[in-house]
Amino acid sequence: MEKRKPIIVGNWKLYKNIQEAIELATAIKNVRQSLPHLEVGIAPPFTALHAVAKRLEGSNVIVAAQNCYFEEKGAFTGEVSPMLLADVGCTHIIIGHSERRQIFGEDDALINRKLKAVIKQKLTPILCIGEHLAQREAGQTFEVVERQLLGALKDIPTEQVRRIVIAYEPVWAIGTGKTASTAQAQEVHQFLRKLLVEHYRDAAERVRIQYGGSVKPENVSGLMAQPDIDGALVGGASLGPDSFIGILRYER
Ligand code: PEP
Repeated sequence: MEKRKPIIVGNWKLYKNIQEAIELATAIKNVRQSLPHLEVGIAPPFTALHAVAKRLEGSNVIVAAQNCYFEEKGAFTGEVSPMLLADVGCTHIIIGHSERRQIFGEDDALINRKLKAVIKQKLTPILCIGEHLAQREAGQTFEVVERQLLGALKDIPTEQVRRIVIAYEPVWAIGTGKTASTAQAQEVHQFLRKLLVEHYRDAAERVRIQYGGSVKPENVSGLMAQPDIDGALVGGASLGPDSFIGILRYER
């Protein structure tokens, strides 16, 4: 069985104008060649995607969007489709980030429709799942991530599931400085892998599962050393070249 190639993606959220985005993208492009064992990506805000994709042409740095709508086109004021995101140079789209779930009310059924739309466009979804602190404290972590994972993947065939990237992001660790311990993260990743084996037998060993939640240069190596952690989705620490490049250069 071929080893899963780790994938580290920076989620820039609602930060960086075009000029700032190009500067940071250029810094990442400049180190990318020295990291052939990794897939590296960034998810700038919509407004900077085109300029960043142009800047990164030929560099092998993934350009990801942070969200999309499930329709291709039509009277959907303010929405952006996977088709238009592909047109500006995106190859990946983050779906179901906890901020989308929490602030914008996205549920598993909507996330499932978005995932299918991304797949139809032959783009790669990065599907985010994760429990809230109260759910963890109530012992519901496995139940919550199982519901989110299977809800999001509903009716998606195994050969498509194989290409999806999953990001396990405990909500209590996002932007809080509180990282899950390596053992806490590995335990959930292992559970997710087991679920994938049960439901998508052939695909389970191929699917990359990223960890997300206050990943920094200081904690990334321990997380990446876990057998079921195949990368990271990084928020705050992806906003500066030193911290993001520090993460990309984790100790192997
Ligand atoms: C995120 O936004 O997906 C994230 C993990 O943020 P942070 O790294 O800041 O916790």
